Amino acid sequence: MRIILFGSPGVGKGTQAKIISKSFNIPHISTGDILRKAVKEQTELGKKAGEIMARGELVPDDLMIALIKEVLTSAECKNGFILDGFPRTTVQAAALDKLFSQIGISDAVLIYITADENEIVRRLNNRRACKQCGSIYVLKDIENVNACPNCGAENSFYLRNDDKEEVIKNRLEVFKSTTMPVLDYYKGKGRVIEVNGLDTIENVNKNIIESLKEKNLYN
Ligand code: AMP
Repeated sequence: MRIILFGSPGVGKGTQAKIISKSFNIPHISTGDILRKAVKEQTELGKKAGEIMARGELVPDDLMIALIKEVLTSAECKNGFILDGFPRTTVQAAALDKLFSQIGISDAVLIYITADENEIVRRLNNRRACKQCGSIYVLKDIENVNACPNCGAENSFYLRNDDKEEVIKNRLEVFKSTTMPVLDYYKGKGRVIEVNGLDTIENVNKNIIESLKEKNLYN
């Protein structure tokens, strides 16, 4: 199973990707997580990406394409993967297509999770991340929690720089102007399913699985 999860920042791609990754036993490839790790470790890529990410802008295509080539051709992704956060531009989408044809992949499915903008701003403002492992939580669920339920790190919750209100606005603008055209690119090729993201985590997941089955894309 090869899946591309597509949708606005804050729509729940990361959450759904983790569930799908477990149920299909395929790796969850989040370019945002890879970049945040690189920034934390101050690698060459991290040094280049840090400030761009803090402004809510996109890391240049050439860096992202090189990164995704390395990951998708690794042994880990041999039997499938779920991509979360890539492609975000039509240039990235075309490069991904080229890579897929080079490595013989023709079964990728794009899942578009929809949501409305007001809800997205509310969600992003109300989410907190763990500094240690990057897990994302809803503020009200961790109000009286000291340690990260995923990795156990204490007092590690913080508001990501790019989840601050002024940066959120920029991320949403970038999504509309630069990332949305990626959807048309894929719609032209078929193999796209659309799921309403304004529902519970369980229902969104159920709808994804049902749509995959309905369209005979479940394999
Ligand atoms: P995310 O966690 O997916 O929202 O990504 C966080 C940030 O990482 C984005 O706002 C971008 O600055 C950067 N980023 C992640 N994926 C990409 C990509 N495919 N192309 C360019 N920048 C990206």
